[in-house]
Order: sequence, then C-alpha cells, then structure tokens
Amino acid sequence: MTATTIAARYTDLCARLRERATLGSVGALVAWDQETFMPPGGADARAEQAALLARLVHERATDPALGDLLGACEEDPELSDAATPEGANLARIRRDYDKATRLDADLVSELALARSRAQSSWKRARQASDFASFVPDLTRVMDLTRRKGEALMDAAHNEVYDALLDEYEPGATAAQIESVFTPLGARLRALIAELDERGTAPETGFCFRAIPVERQHAFGRRVLEAFGFDFDRGRLDTTTHPFCEGLGPGDTRLTTRYSETNFPDAIGSTMHEGGHGLYEQGLPKRGDRFGTPLAEPVSLGIHESQSRLWENMVGRSAAFWSWALPIAREMFSPVLDDVDHAMMVRAMNTATPGFIRVEADEATYNLHVMLRFELERALIRGDLAIADLPGAWNTRFEALLGLGVPDDARGCLQDVHWSFGLVGYFPTYTLGNLYAAQMWETIHDAIPDLDDRMARGDFGALLAWLRSNIHAHGRRYGADELIERISGRPLDSEPLIRHLESRIRPAYGM
Ligand code: ZN
Repeated sequence: MTATTIAARYTDLCARLRERATLGSVGALVAWDQETFMPPGGADARAEQAALLARLVHERATDPALGDLLGACEEDPELSDAATPEGANLARIRRDYDKATRLDADLVSELALARSRAQSSWKRARQASDFASFVPDLTRVMDLTRRKGEALMDAAHNEVYDALLDEYEPGATAAQIESVFTPLGARLRALIAELDERGTAPETGFCFRAIPVERQHAFGRRVLEAFGFDFDRGRLDTTTHPFCEGLGPGDTRLTTRYSETNFPDAIGSTMHEGGHGLYEQGLPKRGDRFGTPLAEPVSLGIHESQSRLWENMVGRSAAFWSWALPIAREMFSPVLDDVDHAMMVRAMNTATPGFIRVEADEATYNLHVMLRFELERALIRGDLAIADLPGAWNTRFEALLGLGVPDDARGCLQDVHWSFGLVGYFPTYTLGNLYAAQMWETIHDAIPDLDDRMARGDFGALLAWLRSNIHAHGRRYGADELIERISGRPLDSEPLIRHLESRIRPAYGM
C-alpha cells in the first residue's frame, strides 16, 4: 500500500472512532439528564433512548469494517511502531476491538436482561434485608459474568477474575492486587487498634451543624474554581449519587449531593468529582483526537487517583484548610465562628470503623474494598457459593473492621455493583488511593513549596504537574507503566500507609 493510502486509512479509522465516541457522549448526556433534570414521566422513553444508543455504540465498536481498517494500518511498520503516538493508539484500538468482538451478542443480551432483573430484586432485598430473595437473580448474574470472563480470557490472564478486572484496570491481575492489599490491610488494622487503645478521637460535632445548601454549593464552587476547574467547559449540579461525566471536548458534567447537616460530606464529594472533572478537562480531546485512545483515561484506578488526590491529599490537608477555613467561616457565618484550624484538620482525618462503605473515612474505606475483592474473587472462582455469601461477609467483616454485622442490609446487600455484574470494579477504588499516595510523594519532591502554595489558595503548579505528567498522555501508557514513569518504581503500599499515618496519628494526639 502507498503511504498516502495508509495515511488515509488511519484517518478513516480515527474518524470512525470519533463517531462512536460522539454517539457514546450522546448516551452519556441523556444519562446525565436522567439523573439531574428529567421529569419522572420521561423514564420509559429515556430507557428506549439509552438502549438504542448503547446498541449503536456496540455495533460501531464491533463493526468488521473497523477491524479491516485496523488490520491494514497494523501492517504498516512505521504506523504500528509502538514508540509513536500512532503505534500506541493502534495497540489500544486492537485491544478494545478484540475484547468487544470476543463476546457473542447472545451473552451480552442475556446479561443485560439478568442485570435489570437482579437490580430490581436487589433493591427489594436490601429494603427488607432479605438476602434469600436475591439469591436466584444474583446467581444468574454471577454465572453469566463468569461466562463473560471466560470468553474474555487470553494468554495474559491466569484466572477468570483477571479477565473481568481487565475491563476496568487494564493489565492488572488479582495476584498483584493481593500483594499490595495484604500489607496495607495489616497496617490499617494495626493502626485502628492503636487509635482505639491510645488515641483521643477528634471532636467532630461541629461538622453536623446546619448550613443552608445554597451556601455549601457556593463554597464548593469557590473551591473548584481555585483548583482550576473551568466552568466555561463544565457544570456542577445536584444528584443523589454524585458522579462526573466527560461528555467530550469542552463539556464536563459534575454532580454532587448536599445534606444541610453534614457540610464535610458535600465538600468532600464536590472535591472528589472535581478531581475526576479536572482529569477529563485535561485529556487531549480537542480536534480529531476525540474518541481515540490517546484522548481517553488510562483506567478506573487512575481516574480514581485524580479524584482521591484532590479530595484527600489536598482536601484534608492542613495547608488546604489554612486557605479554605477563613473562607468557609465567612460564607457559613456564624456557624463555624468557634472552629479553629487545628479542630478542622483533626475532624477531617478520623478513622472510625463503620458498616457502610460509602460513609467510610479515608483509611477504613480500604478495608471495605479488600473485603469485597476477596469475596468476589472467591465467588467467580467457585470457592464460595452465593448462598454462603452473608456468612462469609460477616466473618471477614468482623476480622477486618472489628464489628459484628447486624443485618444484610448493612452487610452484603449494601452495594449495587454485584447485581450489575460489576466484578473486578471494587479494587479500583483502593488502587486509586494507592496511586494517588505514590503520586503525592513525587509531586512534593517536584514542587517543594507545595504546602505554602496551597495555604495561599494557589493550586496552579499542582494542576500543571498533573496535566503534563498524567492528563496529557491519555491512554498512551498502562497504569503500571505510568506510575513507574512518574515515581521511578512500581506500585507499593508504603506511600499510602505513610500518608494515612502522618495525617491520622496527629489527629488522635499520637
Ligand atoms: Zn470516584
């Protein structure tokens, strides 16, 4: 093939990907609208719109013409050189195409049907705390999910779980995750036992004083503006379950939630989603790159690292509150008039075991994730029967978090993920914390006066570092490769342990 022909094919390939991404972003837009402004009466038509768009996206992702174009481009040695952006793009496009075409349409639609059934029975079961009623539908979803994993297995995967994990955290394996989670879990349990024995729990009562939602919203917006979130290319709205949706170049939607009597929850979820949003705004999606892997996020774990970095590393730090507390006191006046900097920082860094993952603090959150990782891996391997899940959950929960689970609603029925067949998804939450902590140490070396800057409300150097070291690369590097390029070593648990201990010990007077 001549150079002109091959260049034209590559352009055609990228144009098809852009069209698919555009369809996907329309799907994301109708989903965003459903969660924010759609009237209840729109539900049926919306379900049809969403299903049609999902089908169109899937058709484009598996289109044999796309495979032909890809194959032709791969034959060109210059274009497929992995050291070039084009070559990196082609390798990722190949991976996505092979994965999408390895699942047969029957399995996909069976799973979609089983999911929607399991989701409604999960809602009923959780409300009544009745696990037995959920067993048949959960069994069906797990069987189909295992079949999906088997279909996705290839030489790179040692176990079915790895093939499922690969959807969310490409390249990661259960064995690697276990080797990082195990030492982290042991140190966290030791820390919590020590706090229990020798620590003085911080005063947190002031966190639950009433503050009007509009004032909390204005404060959250002020913080996001200081972080560098561009409101000309994004929005912040309200939902029950906060999320971030990058709709494309120039349009990133954030949602958060407010409780009048828990302002730290609102500001935490605003900063969290804001971190996701800053990543989306930093990805190089402009021009004809939109839809190609180099304009996409690396993995769920890396995405989560960006949210955790702003929510926790920045948002719970003494430096951040040096800048933010005077603003909060003024905007919430007189509610926080008697709250000083030390009180605020201590209250932001508690570690208290509780039953519910989504209400957990920065430290114990990881133990909730480890529990789910262990159990879902055992379920997929067939080492744990669905009917035995509540018992296994309660036993492991007590071992990890030291509490006896009172009922399944506050135990194994609390999360929606398994009813959706989302297996391999949970570990990405803790991977995000681990990546963020390892990045944070590197960032402090690169920007030695970062704390002084944050204390002045100057987050520009931090965002610029994230932009050039992480956001700008899109999916050019895998998560493991990226973390090694940034920090000079593979992922390990020590930075997160150091981070948590350095924040929590002083908060408990230790
Ligand atoms: Zn997140």
